[in-house]
Order: sequence, then C-alpha cells, then structure tokens
Amino acid sequence: MLRRWIFADQLGPHFLDDPHQPVLLVESKAVFRRRAFHRQRAHLLLSALRHRAAELNDQAIHLRTETFREALRQLDDPVEVCHPTSRRARDLVRSLAGVTMLAPRGFVTSPADFADWADRRRGTLRIEDFYRHARQQHGVLTGGTEPVSSGQKWHLDARNRQRPARDSAQLDIPPPPIPQEDEIDAEVRHELDRWAAEGIRFIGHDGPRLFPATRAEAIVRLRHFIRHRLPMFGPYEDAMLSADPFMAHSALSSSFNLGLLDPMEAIREAEQAYRDGVAPLSSVEGFIRQLLGWRDFVWNLYWYFNAGHRADDRPHGRSVPGWFTNLDADAVRARCLSDILAGVRDRAWVHHTPRLMVLANYAVQRGWHPSDLVDWFHRCFIDGTEWALTVNLAGTSQYADPGKMVTKPYAADGEYIKRMSDYCASCRYDPKLGLGGDACPFTAGYWMFVDRDQARLHGNVRMLRSVRQLERRADVSAMAAQEKERGSRAP
Ligand code: SF4
Repeated sequence: MLRRWIFADQLGPHFLDDPHQPVLLVESKAVFRRRAFHRQRAHLLLSALRHRAAELNDQAIHLRTETFREALRQLDDPVEVCHPTSRRARDLVRSLAGVTMLAPRGFVTSPADFADWADRRRGTLRIEDFYRHARQQHGVLTGGTEPVSSGQKWHLDARNRQRPARDSAQLDIPPPPIPQEDEIDAEVRHELDRWAAEGIRFIGHDGPRLFPATRAEAIVRLRHFIRHRLPMFGPYEDAMLSADPFMAHSALSSSFNLGLLDPMEAIREAEQAYRDGVAPLSSVEGFIRQLLGWRDFVWNLYWYFNAGHRADDRPHGRSVPGWFTNLDADAVRARCLSDILAGVRDRAWVHHTPRLMVLANYAVQRGWHPSDLVDWFHRCFIDGTEWALTVNLAGTSQYADPGKMVTKPYAADGEYIKRMSDYCASCRYDPKLGLGGDACPFTAGYWMFVDRDQARLHGNVRMLRSVRQLERRADVSAMAAQEKERGSRAP
C-alpha cells in the first residue's frame, strides 16, 4: 500500500484507505513566511497536524521543512495524495515526481457529478437547484424524491429569519465545549513565539485554543451541538447579539475544513435528530443546507469556474484600509463594525452573518478589491480556505460575478443591521440617516453602492425597488462627498 501524504486539511480517517496505511505529514514553514496569518489560525493548523502525527505515531513520517518540495525530496518511495483544496497546492502536487494525485475527499458530491449537473444548465447556477439535486441524489431529508413534510418545501428559510427578543442579550443556550490545551499546544505556542522573534509576522491576538484540533474534540463539539444547540440554530441563524458571539452556531467550520469531520456524518446525525424529535425540521434543514448546499456548492464551483472568479475582480477597486486589515477595532466608532473586528482579532472567528452583512457588506459598499478581501479573510479566520472565499466572498458577497451564482448582491443598509442585531441601540450613529454627523456608514454606503453599480443592477428584479428609490433620492452625491471627506479613515 502506497504511503498517503495528507495535507493539514486532510486530517480525518476518511482521507486514508485503511486505518493502518502509512502516512506522510509535512509542516512547511514557508507557508507562514509568505503571508501574515492570524496567530490563532497558525496555532490551530500546527496543533491539529501535530496531534494527528502523535495519534499515528510510527505509522507516519512527520517532516518539518522549509517547503513541501524539500520534504518530498527526502523520500525514497513514491506517495499518493488526495486532491488538494487549492489551485496552488494542486499545481505543486502535479509538478512533483513520484506523487500520484487521487480524487478529492471531504465533500459529499464529486466534481464529476457537479460538472454533469452544471453542464445541463444554461446560465446562472443556483444553489437552490443544486441543493435539491444533492438531497435527492443522497436521500437526505427526503421521502422518495420529495422533501420530508413542511408542505413539500426544500428549504425553510422563511421560518429562520428571526431576531431574539429586544431585551435578550444572549440566547441562553450552552456555549460550545472548549477543548483543553495540552503539551502539544504548549510546544506550538513556544514555537510560534520563536518564529515571531525571528521576524515571521502574525496578526490578531493569541489566546486559548477555542477550536478542535483532533477528531475526538470535533466529535464532542458536534454531538453537543446536535443535542443542545441545533434546536435553536434555525430561527436565529441570521441574527447577531453583541454579548453572544456563538449564539446557536455550531462553530464546526474549522473542523470540516481541517478534515477532522466528514460532512456526511454530521448531515446524518442532524437528520437523525429530526427523526428522533430532538430538533425541529427548520433548524436541521438550515444546518444541512449549510453543509450539503453551500459548502459543497461553493467547493464545486471553485473548480468548475476555475480561475473565472478572480478574473472578474474589479479592475478599479479600492485598497482595503490598514485599520481593517490590522484588526484595529479600537479605531472604529461604528458599534457593529468595531465589535465584529474585535471578535476577529480576539477569536479569529465570527459567525456567517457578521462576516457577510457587516464586514463584507462594508467592503462591497466601498468597492474594495475582492481579491484583497479574499486574502484577508483567508489569513484572519480560523476556518479560512481559498476555495470557499474565492467563490463565496468574491463571487457572492462582493458581487464580482453578477449572475453566475447569485441573484442579488449581499449589500444592506443600517436598518437591516438594526433589525437583525442589538448593535444600533448603543451606537453613536443612527441607522435611519445616510447624511450628516450621525449618519450610519452602512446606510450611506448602501446608497452609494446602488448609485455606483446601478447600470449592473438595473435589470435585476430583486434590486428594482432600490434602484427606483435611488431615482427619487437627491442626497446620494452628498453622501458620496461625505464619504470622500472621510477618506480611508475608520467610520
Ligand atoms: Fe452599525 Fe449603523 Fe447600527 Fe451603528 S447605526 S451599529 S454603524 S448599523
């Protein structure tokens, strides 16, 4: 049996053909030299890889080298590797002698199935269509070819857009279990301190490891989520509470992206929770849609469109300012943006709504370079992956590929943030205002975005109301002048 080279995002048993298969694990320091990663992200990657090496013990060769190429040169025998998750890593694997690349693992659907489905469609590829196809194909939450109960609906989003009661600071559900650090974490922390002293740059704050580094830790978090948190996930999945960053989110994305968990095992456990009456269908369906819908859809699109998303980058986009890239939350007075940047600085994680509706929303309103933003999210988030961000962020939230996969840009004004969070009550700005000293930067930014992109938005039915409202507004150029005056300073 050939030795299986596993990358740091292929750490689960499903990346091996046999539990006793010989393994190669490589730590490349050059990865950390190239770009400044969040300190907690660097810690989790190294900790997870070293924990896997310790579990495999004599079964694995564990090399610490400057580059992957250097490590592979030290081997006498050929190796095989599952298809890597980035184009850069795939190209590296293809260029190495003695390395066989196998089909990808760690997702529910295969690229060939996806291409077959996508090739049969003309025009925009819709997640709703793909999700329905994948559920039918894998028999998830179905009875025959139809969805289980709830009026034969495939998704139950309409029930999942609630915000907590006005006076609730927390959802009052148990937080996710936090792993116990061990001697491997202590060794990683010392090593990263040494690297920092040598000049390798990190961003964000160091802190206790909050996310699973082993499969055992990930399973504990998954089971706890299914039993105690999933029931509340659906209704509040789009809401934000300043004192409750985790709310009912699973906080398992890094575990799926490190390959510690197989998404299908989580889907089946969630489905069973519905059948056992542990969690309502709306929550279970919402969670499964994130995995079988979004995660698989985005993964497949990354390869299907190949380099297309980057090519659609805005040629005249503006640079991402330093206060944002350096996570300088204290420089920001806008309550929502400051709190969320602080969350990224302190935990390398905020859930998907702050990512999309605050961070990415602010960026799309100002026309920042999508590819710079992809790079920033990739480095700063505990679960950052190029495949997810290139498609999800550049394609969806930044509307850099209008029509390919989304019907509407993810841009919203301050009133939306007010509706879905408790931030505005304690903010110095007023979400109703787009102009003046108290103007909310998101409300002003929204109208500037609609104004700037109106040619692209004109034929979009879902944006028609905003485009028509824009025609009646006389204050948008004053908002743009106000924004110009602020320049690249934090709001
Ligand atoms: Fe954010 Fe505007 Fe609300 Fe302030 S008023 S918290 S800036 S949305």
